[in-house]
Amino acid sequence: MKEVKSPKRPLLYYYGIVLLIILVFNLFITPLLSQRHVVEVDYGTFMDMIEEKQIGVVQVEDTQILFTNLDETTVYKTGVMEDPTLAERLHECGAKFDRVIEEPTSPLLSLFLTAVVPILIFFALGQYMNKKLTEQAGGKNALSFGMGKSSAKIYVPSTQGIRFSDVAGEDEAKESLQEIVDYLHNPAKYTEAGASMPKGILLVGPPGTGKTMLAKAVAGEANVPFFSISGSEFVEMFVGMGASKVRDLFRQAKEKAPCIVFIDEIDAIGQKRNSGGYGGNDEREQTLNQLLTEMDGFEGNTGVIILAATNRPESLDPALTRPGRFDRRVPVELPDLAGREAILKVHAKKIKVAPDVDFRTVARMATGASGAELANIVNEAALRAVRNERTVVTEADLEESIEVVIAGYQKKNAVLSDQEKKVVAYHEIGHALVAARQSNSAPVQKITIIPRTSGALGYTMQVETGDKYLMTKEELENKIATYTGGRAAEELVFGQITTGASNDIEQATKLARAMISRYGMSEEFDMVALETVSNQYLGSDASLACSPDTQREIDRRVVDLVKQQHEKARKLLEENRDKLDALAQFLYEKETITGDEFMEILTGGES
Ligand code: ADP
Ligand code: ZN
Repeated sequence: MKEVKSPKRPLLYYYGIVLLIILVFNLFITPLLSQRHVVEVDYGTFMDMIEEKQIGVVQVEDTQILFTNLDETTVYKTGVMEDPTLAERLHECGAKFDRVIEEPTSPLLSLFLTAVVPILIFFALGQYMNKKLTEQAGGKNALSFGMGKSSAKIYVPSTQGIRFSDVAGEDEAKESLQEIVDYLHNPAKYTEAGASMPKGILLVGPPGTGKTMLAKAVAGEANVPFFSISGSEFVEMFVGMGASKVRDLFRQAKEKAPCIVFIDEIDAIGQKRNSGGYGGNDEREQTLNQLLTEMDGFEGNTGVIILAATNRPESLDPALTRPGRFDRRVPVELPDLAGREAILKVHAKKIKVAPDVDFRTVARMATGASGAELANIVNEAALRAVRNERTVVTEADLEESIEVVIAGYQKKNAVLSDQEKKVVAYHEIGHALVAARQSNSAPVQKITIIPRTSGALGYTMQVETGDKYLMTKEELENKIATYTGGRAAEELVFGQITTGASNDIEQATKLARAMISRYGMSEEFDMVALETVSNQYLGSDASLACSPDTQREIDRRVVDLVKQQHEKARKLLEENRDKLDALAQFLYEKETITGDEFMEILTGGES
């Protein structure tokens, strides 16, 4: 979710500036402007005017004398002279002693200067501020000072031309969206049968898996207009603005129907109401209510189809997902091996690739990468080719860029000491050897011990032999043993332990805890759920749902489990000490070892 900046501080800040400007204006500019019409005359003229009884009002000050003519239309000013009889003479000529401050002639002008100009400045600043805020918000939402209408430009013509064929993999998602396309092409077919389309479809999945792309592709395939807005853009600083924006959006959409409305990050407004401790956010609640009202308000067959994306489906208000609203849910998951290969190929079309690149191997290395990351990998590879003054991208470029995208750039100038390098080599081989001895196949694609900018000292590219949906208890235990293998090798070889295992410790603990509290893999607790996972896509931690006593017991079990596997790993390495040394030596010298080389050394002595 994009972070929505609290607008409070900038707003106060701008008000402060406006106030200051008005103050300055009043203090300096107003008197300046009004004194412009004061006519400066010499003392003689003043004397003459007294003689001729031409003085209306007079004000004698320490350094100057201000006076007006008889009908008070002009203000004059003159200096002060030593003149003891002045007051008397002024009195004689019938002058009124009073304050002569402003030019008394044009009350309109003074009104204009004191009232209208500051207000104008205020508005100009407001407009400027509005524009600034709009720019910050991506240029889409304009807020015109409570005047209600959003001049939001949300209409994107469908001729941008993203098609289903541009979205690789995600076949299930495409299949369920294909029906929408069909409906938009031929609504009569559906109305005849009395079927109505779902009004809203929720695309659910981790970030970067192509949800936005799929929505655009639906519009592209159906050749209809595409409205796109992000949920966070509805969250405005004034209560009611978001709701009016929703109204506006639906008004525009109905005018352009049939069309697709895409609301990205719908969780920004669609969160469960009153779930916060502070009694909820009025503005968001109103916006959500307006959205629900609008969705109820139009018939199923108006041709407006609303697609929304989120990676936090569990946080959505149930009212939003009930039938008649977003009642269809389309999962958009991370791509599997075949999916990754397809995505790589789609993006590789945009660059020049050597004919011998094996995309399957590259896809295998990029385990767990999302579509967006894969697109990034291809681009990084192209950049690397350019850096090396080539126009064709090779497989080595792709492999290197996977490491770059996942682990960061090579840190060329970070020099590990000889001893450190040895430790890292043993550590990485420790992991790989434990894994290999438990599964009898190459556990890695490649290991390098070149430091990365991400802080990793070594990097291990895992292989994924096939897609796995179920893991047995034994496999999970083996995995924990593999995590502990790095530290076990250090202990065995150097009799010393280092900080290098911190990530391994984290992973092993997480897995062990999940086995006990979520997967029901301990005898004590059997099939009792002791934890609940709040978000399946963002990988947030689970929260415990049991008594403190049970928690203590779980902690003990976790420690036992990890200890047991650590012991097992150490035994495995001890039994294979010669292999461990040979492999670590190889890695230490070459800095990189491939899965094939690894297996060759491992089975070398045996066959
Ligand atoms: P999301 O909306 O799920 O966060 P996007 O649709 O914005 O993800 O995807 C971001 C980018 O990742 C796209 O512009 C595209 O280049 C790439 N991408 C993601 N998934 C795919 C896919 N299945 N096929 C091709 N490209 C993809
Ligand atoms: Zn490790």
